Amino acid sequence: MANSSDSGTDCHKASIMQFDRAADIMELDGELRQWLNTSFRELSVRIPVRMDDGNVRVFSGYRVQHSNVRGPHKGGLRYHPSVSLEDVRGLAAWMTWKCALLDLPLGGAKGGITCNPKEMSLAEQERMTREYIHGIGDLIGPTKDIPAPDINTNARIMGWIMDEYSKRQGYSPGVVTGKPLELGGSPGREDATGKGVSIIVGRWAEKENRPLHQISAAVQGFGNVGYHTALHLSRLGCRIVAVSDSTAGIINEDGLDIQAAGRHKKNSGSLSGFAGGETVDQGEVLTCKCDYLIPAALQTVIHGGNLEKLQTRVIFEAANGPVCPYTEPLLLERGITVLPDILVNGGGVSVSYFEWVQNIQHFQWKDEIIQMELQAIMHRAFDKVIALADERNISYRIAAYILAIDKVVRAGHLRGIYQSQS
Ligand code: GLU
Repeated sequence: MANSSDSGTDCHKASIMQFDRAADIMELDGELRQWLNTSFRELSVRIPVRMDDGNVRVFSGYRVQHSNVRGPHKGGLRYHPSVSLEDVRGLAAWMTWKCALLDLPLGGAKGGITCNPKEMSLAEQERMTREYIHGIGDLIGPTKDIPAPDINTNARIMGWIMDEYSKRQGYSPGVVTGKPLELGGSPGREDATGKGVSIIVGRWAEKENRPLHQISAAVQGFGNVGYHTALHLSRLGCRIVAVSDSTAGIINEDGLDIQAAGRHKKNSGSLSGFAGGETVDQGEVLTCKCDYLIPAALQTVIHGGNLEKLQTRVIFEAANGPVCPYTEPLLLERGITVLPDILVNGGGVSVSYFEWVQNIQHFQWKDEIIQMELQAIMHRAFDKVIALADERNISYRIAAYILAIDKVVRAGHLRGIYQSQS
């Protein structure tokens, strides 16, 4: 459990704390902070769904648009029992900073429904998704706000969103990204976030002058991001010593066979009992001995309660907000490096951007082009963050925020939305 200083740290609070640390260094004035730190628009919707047993259940859904100064709002849609407006608000702001840092011409948004899709049939999930799109339909569109997958949502759900929106507006593949290939999805989108994480990890190892085959890594979370991160890293020669999902952890100091672990999870529904390693409590994966720790699931999993037990040198935030903002300075004091989410997990939205461009052009790019462009975006952002952090002697997160905030402020001035005094 988190200690008292962490308790109640939702994504919104975390995003404000991180923003403020950068804004203090940038000496941003109060008005500008208020403009950058508040949502453009927040919508809560009631989602009545006829369940398979005939009863109607009413779910709560949200879409928060943080900024569209640099382009249409952009960000995923999350289905999870813990989803709250506060979390969605913070996650939307992180999308603004992520897109700005990566130099994608997009703003920030996020959506969510408080539900447990693991206990729902596919038909129930489809009815819920269509009803949600009915609720937020006026806000989204290829030039307004473009949803995408996030925790517990996938290409099939994005296909329903495209269909539901297109029924009203005409064929509109650019309204959502992360779609199936047959419906205008992009090559490389499915594993893009994990691929992007592996590119950043590789670049960091290069900076440390350590070949990846000398590196051990633990990956917490075995959904789309965690699985593909572990798979790509193991293909690059990295030893994945631990993985976990919401039910169990698996540890093997000699390295895990990630594809076999993936097959086990697919067949049995959980990592538990995978014969390629020892099944442990899922929390142990965060505190096991490894060079690199890669949290790839939910927010605030590294906090005051497990800080002392960590046995890693570097944390790569593949999830959004896995390091509690109260704990981060203590990690840095202990000599643990943190590479921030808005850099590390930017591969997903980068390929989402390529998908959107292809939809607008009605022209499909080859996978080689996508992989090349993805690598270029990730390397460029990484190099800028490292250079600024080294030059100013600040953390990588603060450097990433300064670069991102500066882009949004400049665009705001030029659009005349926020006029500078000078
Ligand atoms: N959900 C992903 C993220 O948090 C991807 C968002 C997108 O592609 O728009 O970055």
